Amino acid sequence: MNILEILAKKNLIEENKVQDLVSQAQSSGITLEELVLSLKLIDEDTLFSAKSEALNIPLKKVDPGAVSLKVLNLIPEDSAKYYKMVPFSQQDRVLEIGMVYPEDPQAKEALSFLSRQGNFAFQVFLISISQFEALMKQYRQLKGEMTQALQELEKEIVQEPAQAGKGAMRRITEEAPVTKVVAVILRTAVEGGASDIHIEPTRENVRVRFRLLGELHSSLILPLRIHQAIIARIKILSSMRIDENRLPQDGRFSTMVDEKQIDFRVSTFPTALGEKVALRVLDPSKGLKTFEDLGLQEHNLFKLKEACAKPYGLILSTGPTGSGKTTTLYAILHELNKEGVNIVSLEDPVEYMMPGVNQSQVKPEIGYDFASGLRQILRQDPNIILVGEVRDKETASLVIHAALTGHIVLSTLHTNNALGVVPRLIDMGIDKYLIPTTLVLVLSQRLVRRLCDLCKEKINPAEETVSLIEKEMNQLPPNVHKIVLPLLKQKDTVIFKAKGCRQCGSSGFSGRIGIFEVLSMTESLGKLILQDPSESAIAKEAKLQGMTTMRQDGIMKVLDGITTIEEVLRATEEYD
Ligand SMILES: [Zn+2]
Repeated sequence: MNILEILAKKNLIEENKVQDLVSQAQSSGITLEELVLSLKLIDEDTLFSAKSEALNIPLKKVDPGAVSLKVLNLIPEDSAKYYKMVPFSQQDRVLEIGMVYPEDPQAKEALSFLSRQGNFAFQVFLISISQFEALMKQYRQLKGEMTQALQELEKEIVQEPAQAGKGAMRRITEEAPVTKVVAVILRTAVEGGASDIHIEPTRENVRVRFRLLGELHSSLILPLRIHQAIIARIKILSSMRIDENRLPQDGRFSTMVDEKQIDFRVSTFPTALGEKVALRVLDPSKGLKTFEDLGLQEHNLFKLKEACAKPYGLILSTGPTGSGKTTTLYAILHELNKEGVNIVSLEDPVEYMMPGVNQSQVKPEIGYDFASGLRQILRQDPNIILVGEVRDKETASLVIHAALTGHIVLSTLHTNNALGVVPRLIDMGIDKYLIPTTLVLVLSQRLVRRLCDLCKEKINPAEETVSLIEKEMNQLPPNVHKIVLPLLKQKDTVIFKAKGCRQCGSSGFSGRIGIFEVLSMTESLGKLILQDPSESAIAKEAKLQGMTTMRQDGIMKVLDGITTIEEVLRATEEYD
């Protein structure tokens, strides 16, 4: 049943006009709703109330001023315009979307595609056409700055002759409009707290996505014809070759955003549809964290400080990519960075500039890799060496050798947990007899989202959650168990869930925090490594030593109201 038939049934329009109106709408290429409104056959409120009733979808009135750009950005503007659907609020992870034509199968399909891509759930409301237009106006107002910059840029490009080659491209990028577009992209990322920006061409347009708290959000859609100008501008900023578009390139640049010096690490990558650019936002004020900010609890902090006080030895930070292990290494390096100490680093890439540290970037393509760099560094008499990652046997053996000859060595290793480090080193050809005397400390970590303090909500968890919490907490070593005892003795276990407010952009979370396990070398662990260096034997020893697992550390943070149980379980899936 179409909307006219619905209206006719309610005696709101004459039934014998329906057929005529349908063909009239078809020939003029507008919808039935638009037609009856333009002919003033019915007023908008009545029309949409009837539609709401017939479709059984609630009709919603929204104050456009209360809708944030962050929410609007979850649906690209061109999709919003085409399918007449606008997101207006986000509760937990559910996006509330107003649609003028919720019955349209194409619109429904587009929405479910976007929700899979953007990883959000949604709830649909019916909105009127004028409500839709008011919301789109808000969209444009919020994006006004970008739109204006884009329009200027488009004018510029049109004025350039079509045969314009490399020289013209360089000229365009030095002029204002593209500079403004790129500046708006960078500022949007920094202000929104994004860690990465992806600029990629699709068949129809250029998509700009921001990574926020580990998740990618599709945020800006730009016209395809400005793609080259944007890429060229970013390449010039990062001192890359603008005429090279078939090979990946790496670079970096530094610029002021909101009166803060921000570094961007840039890499380009050729795709079938053109070059893609990824920028990592390196906000120095975010990069350097204190041990407490990282989320190291007292018993772990104690072990770490003890290790830092040793004159030599190897400290390894482990975890998958994106687990925050490099940030942790920088915090340790910062602690060790004192006058009179010679610190040299070999990194790939250099993520944060640290005053007083002699940082260098490895370049495997010219033969300067971790291993050759390390050999060179050892001749410069450093006290402390940071090696970005132990990736191969040669680097592993050089790192052990450096620790053995009186240096403090910091590095990262790819293992799932702290227990896997010793077997992994042996696997990489390290003689097990060398491990007890060189390896000082292993930290393993994951990142979980931190609850927004302004809106988090107390809940009484389900029975199965309570028993999971109790099971993990009862296995804590005695020295740590006594810390959580008061929390567990409460009548009902209280934890928190994310809610969402204006301050946290309706996400319910604000920033991230690490959950850790820290294993230190002890005499008994050293003896064990010589006899049975298997992960299971080390696990038993770690427990005797009083090590808490990442999951236990996370659950302690749940009981402290720092994060949610879902976050911790998700980050520590391998314990299931
Ligand atoms: Zn909040």
